[in-house]
Amino acid sequence: MAQFTRVSRSVGLITLQNPPVNALSAVTRQGIVDAVKSALGDPKVKSVVICGQNGIFCGGADIKEFGTNITGPPLVPMIHAIEASNKPVVAAIEGSAFGGGLELALGCHYRVAHSKAKLGLTEVTLGLLPAAGGTQRLPRLIGVPAALNLITTGRHVTAAEALQLGIVDQVTDHNTVDEAVKFALSVAGKSLDARRISTYPCPRPSDVDALFEEVMQKVRQSARGAIAPIACVQAVRAAATLPYSQGMEREQELMATLFTSGQARALQYCFFAQRAVGRWSMPSGARWDTSKPRSIRKAAVIGLGTMGRGIAVALAQAGLSVVAVETQEKQFTEAKKMVSGMMERGAKRRGTAPPLDKITYSQNIQAVADVDLVIEAVFEDMALKEKVFQQLSTICKQGTFLCTNTSALDVDHLASQTRNPELVVGMHFFAPAHVMKLLEVVYGPRSSPQAVATAMQLGKKMGKVSVAVGNCRGFVGNRMLKPYLEQALFLLEEGATPELVDGALEEFGFALGVFKMSDLSGLDVGWKIRKGDGLVEPGLASGPSARIRQGRRYSPLGDLLCEQGRFGQKTGQGWYRYDKPGSRVARYDPWLHSFLEEYRTQHGIVARRMDQQEVLERCLYALINEGFRILEDGIAAGPEDIDIIYVFGYSWPRHRGGPMFYASMVGLAKVLKRLEHYHQAHPDIPYMQPCNLLRRLVASGSPPVHKWKEAIKKLRSQL
Ligand code: NAD
Repeated sequence: MAQFTRVSRSVGLITLQNPPVNALSAVTRQGIVDAVKSALGDPKVKSVVICGQNGIFCGGADIKEFGTNITGPPLVPMIHAIEASNKPVVAAIEGSAFGGGLELALGCHYRVAHSKAKLGLTEVTLGLLPAAGGTQRLPRLIGVPAALNLITTGRHVTAAEALQLGIVDQVTDHNTVDEAVKFALSVAGKSLDARRISTYPCPRPSDVDALFEEVMQKVRQSARGAIAPIACVQAVRAAATLPYSQGMEREQELMATLFTSGQARALQYCFFAQRAVGRWSMPSGARWDTSKPRSIRKAAVIGLGTMGRGIAVALAQAGLSVVAVETQEKQFTEAKKMVSGMMERGAKRRGTAPPLDKITYSQNIQAVADVDLVIEAVFEDMALKEKVFQQLSTICKQGTFLCTNTSALDVDHLASQTRNPELVVGMHFFAPAHVMKLLEVVYGPRSSPQAVATAMQLGKKMGKVSVAVGNCRGFVGNRMLKPYLEQALFLLEEGATPELVDGALEEFGFALGVFKMSDLSGLDVGWKIRKGDGLVEPGLASGPSARIRQGRRYSPLGDLLCEQGRFGQKTGQGWYRYDKPGSRVARYDPWLHSFLEEYRTQHGIVARRMDQQEVLERCLYALINEGFRILEDGIAAGPEDIDIIYVFGYSWPRHRGGPMFYASMVGLAKVLKRLEHYHQAHPDIPYMQPCNLLRRLVASGSPPVHKWKEAIKKLRSQL
């Protein structure tokens, strides 16, 4: 709702009241309409201030109302009525003005913002566009290029940037409402002719066609198949080329297309899923709301390689004191330099001081004796990690949480090396750890709820999206990745090329296809793991048996490349050719293509033509099938956990909602049918056999994704 009061005798104060963010629900919109009517009808009121309660102006539309029959007064006429008022209306922006909230502010005649406020037209992140005049008013106010940048990205700007761009008229460090009231008093009675943004001519760039063509190309590239950013460009183009009323019509048309699209549903699902993963639970019944985290002030990182450096930076940036331990002299010296550089660059971007003094370095593990929590990031070698955990267990003070950044090893086995296994959890970061948002918090059967709660809270403090998952080989993300990677190799054997496979996956929306991604991460990483698993046999043996390992189909293609020293970007050769070691542009490599032909001949494989659909189905459905197994095993509590892991850790396109959401959009019956087909065609790939849970969900009528948790619980109770 919204409350109307009169302050300073002649200022009508309208306060939005819809906690937590004063979203524009039907009731709030009705409240605003009524309050505006009261303010304009009250002869004692000479000017009006609109603000939000609890230090937040307005977070935008109430997305809980999406997908339902929207009732209550619509936003567009409400904002028009405010703009058309002949009493000046001032928006007092504290906290945030996002989406519809900023559109409401743009309908006001003046805007006063607190210096800590953030503003943005964020609709594009939910698969929509600012459809309450935002795409028409913002370019009229700040010009086409700046408006395009904000509207197509949904970027938040600070109050200072908003002032510089001309979005707000005044920024204050004092009480924003008091300042806005003063402002409102000062402009009472003045002409508003020059203050109604919808009446401004839109600054028209000199070559409007060329500008929009260029922008469209850039947006298409970065959108990776998302349609909302494209529609945003089209709407801003309407602002630049059509009168306001026609521009508004275009805005509405474009919004209508987006509103009912699968992409908007996917992005809105992600919005809620991201919040849902914070409400974690464990099979033991322990939960987020009944488990109390301990506060962590001092943490240690063991091993300052690729991961340890990023983790140390992320911890220091979150305000913790960090003890960083590295035993190898060369790595120690290099890491100190690199970590400082990373912190300096980060601080420069944020305009803050680098927290260099937060980190102390040591080559002696004894230095971690007084820390509250340790994150181990030494080589992926169980014997080494066992030793480190045994040491930590004796060195650290009582109650220190011991965490491992292992990518796949058994967290419970590491716990068994310590005196207090309940204090051990996995904290699986993603590279580069100070940048990537995802953190898998891995609990073993003996991890205490407090250890999980503490790791989850620490992840949040570090700005991560943390997902609690059970302990199994590869946890959730890497376990699902394995069948995906293997399918890609099988496709190459059968006749595909890296270009075809990557092209299909990139068109689907991945930032990089599987082969480009492998080249970037380094082919030797997986090679080492496969060697450890006893899967690698040197040389190019012939016949079908050479492609069977441990009773199932195996492709040695990756091993053969590694034998040639082709480790990807770092060696300048992998699945692609690079101009020099370390270069990033993947180029077609004739050698690789001859190698594949030779390989097929040697193994008696006749290459067949395959299309993008087969590539997508085999790679993605194999991954999704493993996701169902993970749900069946109780390793992930629900589909949201898996989807958030894939969106934040594996560049799954957000506008497709994550693999499990995608499966629900494709239709579970179809996914099941295609998996059955591929399993029949490739009986030597056991994981293509559809998972029981998938079959049972289909048999129970393919419930929508938000009902899976409930359905799984029911199915379990029937077993
Ligand atoms: P890395 O080889 O870059 O670094 C490991 C570092 O640990 C080296 O600097 C080494 O000198 C140091 N070290 C070895 N023994 C030590 C000891 N006893 N005490 C202190 N330092 C010691 O490895 P990385 O890529 O950073 O991986 C570290 C861990 O993180 C592994 O378990 C890996 O599986 C996991 N991980 C890696 C990635 C990735 O993309 N690289 C992603 C997620 C998780």
